[in-house]
Amino acid sequence: MNAEAAKATPGMAASERINRSRLVLNVVLVGILCYASNEIGFAHKIPPHNISVLWPMSAILFSALLVSSPRHWWAYVLAGYSSSIIRDAQAGFPAQAFLFIGAGLLEIVGAALVIRRYLSPIKMFDSLRELALYLAIAVIGAPMVSAFVSAFAGGTANYWFFWRVWYLSEALACLMLAPAILSWITLARHKSGTIPMARRVEGTVLVTILAGVCFFAFTGNVQTGHGIPALVYLPLPFLLWAAVRFGPLGVNTALLIVACLSISGAVHARGPFVYSDETKGVLSLQLFLATLSLPLMLLAAVIQESRARAQVLRESEARFRSMADTSPVMIWMSGPDQKSEYFNKRWLDFTGRTLEQELGEGWIEGVHPDDRPRCLRIYHESLDARKPFEMEYRLRHKDGHYRWVFGCGVPRFMPDGSFVGYIGSCLDIAERKDAELQLQEQRAEVTHLSRVAVVGELSGAVAHELNQPLTAILSNAQAAQRRLAQEPIDLDEIRDILTDIVNEDKRAGEIIRRLRALLKKGEMQLQPLSLNELANDTVMLAHGDFVSRGIVVSTKLAADLPVVRGDRVQLQQVLLNLISNACDAMRDNAPSERRLEIATHSNGSGTVEVAVTDEGPGIAPEARDRLFEPFVTTKKEGLGLGLTICRTIVKAHGGRLWSDNNPVRGAAFYVSLPTLVRDPI
Ligand code: ADP
Repeated sequence: MNAEAAKATPGMAASERINRSRLVLNVVLVGILCYASNEIGFAHKIPPHNISVLWPMSAILFSALLVSSPRHWWAYVLAGYSSSIIRDAQAGFPAQAFLFIGAGLLEIVGAALVIRRYLSPIKMFDSLRELALYLAIAVIGAPMVSAFVSAFAGGTANYWFFWRVWYLSEALACLMLAPAILSWITLARHKSGTIPMARRVEGTVLVTILAGVCFFAFTGNVQTGHGIPALVYLPLPFLLWAAVRFGPLGVNTALLIVACLSISGAVHARGPFVYSDETKGVLSLQLFLATLSLPLMLLAAVIQESRARAQVLRESEARFRSMADTSPVMIWMSGPDQKSEYFNKRWLDFTGRTLEQELGEGWIEGVHPDDRPRCLRIYHESLDARKPFEMEYRLRHKDGHYRWVFGCGVPRFMPDGSFVGYIGSCLDIAERKDAELQLQEQRAEVTHLSRVAVVGELSGAVAHELNQPLTAILSNAQAAQRRLAQEPIDLDEIRDILTDIVNEDKRAGEIIRRLRALLKKGEMQLQPLSLNELANDTVMLAHGDFVSRGIVVSTKLAADLPVVRGDRVQLQQVLLNLISNACDAMRDNAPSERRLEIATHSNGSGTVEVAVTDEGPGIAPEARDRLFEPFVTTKKEGLGLGLTICRTIVKAHGGRLWSDNNPVRGAAFYVSLPTLVRDPI
């Protein structure tokens, strides 16, 4: 024996001793009860046939077996039948004694074995199914089988009479006494401490009134007129009270009270069951008790079942609520009418509002006014279609500021497929949203700076180009001054000169406008655009650069090109970048081989394309695969950001930017953009 086992032994021995003494006590108690019930049973037999309305002993022993371990059944059976054995021993063990004991044992042990195998003695009377099985086994099956044996012992002359007498009194005991005993044992074992005082008082009042009513109804003197049959219904309201308020325990107890007092009345020739033919009187009392018990026991089981279902529902609801309230996510639920009917604690903590304020459509008040129409549209459209949804919107925090949240919802369906509403959650994504906005701003800043850089590269050529109109304006103005000094003044010539000045000024103004537009900072502004116009505009802007670099530009613009939707400045930046790269690529070409082509065409599948083609050396093999990655450059002074930014801009427009080397020489860069209105097919 190891040390641990040695240590455990004294404790185990003590608990075993307690168990054994408890068993001895129980066995003795069952013995005493069976002895007493035997005596009561004999004392309550109704002459002349000595019929017992209800034989209590077998029900007591049967209940004891049901709640004890089968290992100890022999002790209970011995204790239960000892009084019968002594009685029969005194009579020198008549041959029938064995048959009666055998029939009783067959009934009790058989029923107990089957019930323990298939039913739970604790919940036997709480469910309709279990109760029906109990009735089939203990009230119908077992007593019926044992009645065949005992009727044989009673003598063959009146076999079916004995069969009926035995069957009914045994069955009634299992119908009225055993359920009451078992219910009370269950209460004592499992629930006694939890019964509130008010219920105890109500139970006591009910039992007292019922006992009084039964005493009045069943023990009245027939001669005095109290024993009228209508009185048998007097206890019914109180039995219903017991069923509704106290379930199976209440009904089983109340029925036992009715049984005790009605049998006592009949035995003492009082009450409504006193007939000149006693056999008939006993039979009608037995039938009365059976027909009274069955519906009430079934009713109590149904009530108990629905109570248990409601309890399970309440528990699952409470479990859900405690889970939802401790969840770090905001949770809501709405009903089939699209009105919100639940918000968890986290939601209320976030908004700082009460549940009552949020219920129904109250939550909408917390949504940012700018997001409200979009939110409501998604919400109602999804709910109408019973589809899951996701959306981002701003919800007012209790500090008064709006915070971005990510909300989603899914429809809820019952097992039978009926729609019961939605359940959804909300996540505070303010930090993610801030980071996104910051990134967007940074991206816009980089895009703008790169544009400034491109424009910077052009600035020399632009200044040169501005020089032309300015020089023309100056010389025109000087010419006008000279004309004004001469007499007579030729007003027509002066008018022509002024017209020239205005035109030159307009040209200069146009150059400055284009530059200003490119240098402007601002949000993306989408508008219908013609890529042909954009290409022409860009070529004009870079005109000075082309001249200074000796580049010959040609445009091949498709007629009737569909319009795209885009930001003029950003798309111009893309073209400028591609043009600038093309010019750089042809830096080392002979002056006669510096040709650049800008072409547009519609490919007929809802997109239009711009191609910028040069005659440079083509894309360097080392840069080919990573051309659009940031900081990839083959130029000494290059940053390697231009194409990265161009691709980001084109992607933001829902388009594509790619490149290819030309078959003969040079490279081509393509931009494809979706058209605003699809081409006719
Ligand atoms: P950067 O012009 O600062 O180098 P870009 O992102 O605009 O940055 O271009 C990246 C690289 O792509 C260039 O360094 C060059 O090697 C290559 N590239 C761009 N356009 C052309 C072109 N038309 N022909 C040949 N190579 C080109």
